[in-house]
Amino acid sequence: MDYEKLIDILEREHDLSEEQWRAVIGAQKFTGSVSGSQVSTLRDWAEVDTETDSETDIVDNTYSVVKYANDKARNIARKVFGNRIYIRGLIEISNYCRNNCYYCGIRRDNKALVRYRLTKEDIMECAKQGYGLGYRTFVLQGGEDGYYSDEVMCDIISSIKKAYPDCAVTLSLGERSRESYKRMYEAGADRYLLRHETGDKDHYQTLHPDEMSYDNRIECLWTLKEIGYQVGCGFMVGSPGQSVDHLVKDMKFIKKLEPQMVGIGPFVPHHETPFANETQGTYEQTLYMMSLIRIMLPEVLLPATTALGTINPRGREMGILAGGNVLMPNLSPVSVRKLYELYDNKICTGDESAECRNCLNSRVQRIGYEIVTDRGDAPSFVR
Ligand code: SF4
Repeated sequence: MDYEKLIDILEREHDLSEEQWRAVIGAQKFTGSVSGSQVSTLRDWAEVDTETDSETDIVDNTYSVVKYANDKARNIARKVFGNRIYIRGLIEISNYCRNNCYYCGIRRDNKALVRYRLTKEDIMECAKQGYGLGYRTFVLQGGEDGYYSDEVMCDIISSIKKAYPDCAVTLSLGERSRESYKRMYEAGADRYLLRHETGDKDHYQTLHPDEMSYDNRIECLWTLKEIGYQVGCGFMVGSPGQSVDHLVKDMKFIKKLEPQMVGIGPFVPHHETPFANETQGTYEQTLYMMSLIRIMLPEVLLPATTALGTINPRGREMGILAGGNVLMPNLSPVSVRKLYELYDNKICTGDESAECRNCLNSRVQRIGYEIVTDRGDAPSFVR
């Protein structure tokens, strides 16, 4: 099968049929040595004619298709954004959460975790430091913590917007009511990140307890869009039980939603969760999926995530070279950073904000990019 041709079709038409997606996504799965049993699985996933293609042909083919996608995605991102990388100052406002997602280190049932909440004053101090370091977007992220009522959030959002009118506020606070999303939008919030986690309802229920609903998650994303937010969805690459078919559904869902942002990172297990012993998602597959997303949605804001930097020391640089254009360094007080451990061994938990900023500056410069002081809105988005 000519995978490169399929990637060309994706570039031209910004979508593929389910069969084409299955072939393209499956093509990456075996970029290393291919064993006999993997070849028979590969036949199902990538629709390769394993009766006639030798194992070596398949391996060569997959290596080249990954590189082909990475190069194409990088060129597309360069055309849209030049060598400019947007940064978002991440403020992790609370590690309390009412939910119990099986993969998450701050889930309700993790009794080993010391919990914290930032006050409005703490958050304003983070924003002040961030503004001085050139951040023009602040991301307020936290578990689903009832302390942050609409009143509390609207006060924080409007205070940030008043102090820094040239900045965008992004929220990442999970599922809330339409009314709540609306009030926070009216208070000045610009963007909302809510990962859909998987495009398959059954798979969603294997990653979350019964009390959580896939339909509600998807409904929230459509509501946010309708209200007028720049919306971000996303999923974990290599989450337990994930198949190529699930990834096909992810791509189909993302295409349908046409979000302004897509956040994907490898699944990384956390030792205090039911998924403690599950296998981590791979670096190569994450980069490949990032590239396919960039080719499908050329203008999308696509972060090279901290999780990618956690599983590979050059993960964030490679994420940019695979089509990413956003970095989300941490602005949270160093005293609480380690407590917001969604997965094990998260990087950058000990560095002061200024150190993070300098470190990232030199990392992106080394690969020919530059961090800019800019809100970094989606190119064709008008509020
Ligand atoms: S993933 Fe989000 S909603 Fe789920 S437990 Fe973690 S913080 Fe809570």
